[in-house]
Amino acid sequence: HAKSSGRNTHRFFAEAMNVEAVAHLSTRSGLRRALERGEFLVQYQPQVNLDSGLVIGAEALVRWNHPERGMIPPGAFIPIAEDSGLIVPIGEWVLRESCRQAAQWQSAGLSLTVAVNLSARQLQRPDLADTVVAALADSGLDPLFLELELTESMLIENTDIVLANIRKVKALGVQLSIDDFGTGYSNLAYIGQLAVDKLKIDRSFIADLCSNHDSARITAAVIQMAHSLNLTAVAEGVEDHGTLDQLRHLRCDVAQGYLLGRPGSADVVERMARQTSVFPVPAI
Ligand code: C2E
Ligand code: MG
Ligand code: MG
Ligand code: MG
Repeated sequence: HAKSSGRNTHRFFAEAMNVEAVAHLSTRSGLRRALERGEFLVQYQPQVNLDSGLVIGAEALVRWNHPERGMIPPGAFIPIAEDSGLIVPIGEWVLRESCRQAAQWQSAGLSLTVAVNLSARQLQRPDLADTVVAALADSGLDPLFLELELTESMLIENTDIVLANIRKVKALGVQLSIDDFGTGYSNLAYIGQLAVDKLKIDRSFIADLCSNHDSARITAAVIQMAHSLNLTAVAEGVEDHGTLDQLRHLRCDVAQGYLLGRPGSADVVERMARQTSVFPVPAI
């Protein structure tokens, strides 16, 4: 059953992939209505420690379960939500839902970190830290188990508000990661100054890690840089065994990708987290 529903999700996603096709649904009022009707949901993709093979956390990925169109992927509505500003309440809902889930994992005896994607709009709001404080307080989640994902472009526009927000959430004990690392224009000085915890190497480098020398060299360099700055290196988009082996050989710390687990229900993550190792192949 899980397999066939996975395939269906995939099919609906493929149909909904075209932003144009759902643009008429993703108006400000359409997204507002979807939020009020509870049509958004969060799926969780496991993140695996490459030394131990243990699940250490999960990335929260929002979907829109539209009553007629089925599952709509974030790429088809997040950009529109960003333009209209609706990303702020949607992002807050994802944050609250993710904190609630992570707190539930904690109560079940599982120390799993939940990683939540932030939009530039959210990072530019003077009340971001208040929103995070409220989500943590209402869920009872220990801030150490919340991670916020930013992108390089969000740090380039380093206004006073953005810098203050980053300082405030860090002061709470929340972890920070740089998503899609290597695709934007990084100000490397900021990576150190902002007390970032993790670099998530973009999927485009991981996808051809085993076949493209440039991708392999860039990945190796980012892992080395992360380690010399005392940061955790995370690989996103691991789809095959060869790539997993190569990342372990390069001493990458954490991996995420379809090979290890597709985004899915919190229950699946919980089940995986109870396993002694999730590696599909024995350690090298
Ligand atoms: P992202 O944060 O870089 O998330 C990773 C994306 O890669 C996810 O796509 C995930 O399903 C996909 N992925 C993971 N492993 C693999 C793999 O092995 N192969 C391939 N081909 N893809 C893989 P998804 O869920 O469609 O999300 C796309 C983007 O939408 C995310 O990219 C993120 O930028 C954005 N997004 C998702 N949820 C939220 C949210 O709650 N708030 C905001 N602001 N953005 C979100
Ligand atoms: Mg992300
Ligand atoms: Mg990413
Ligand atoms: Mg990416």
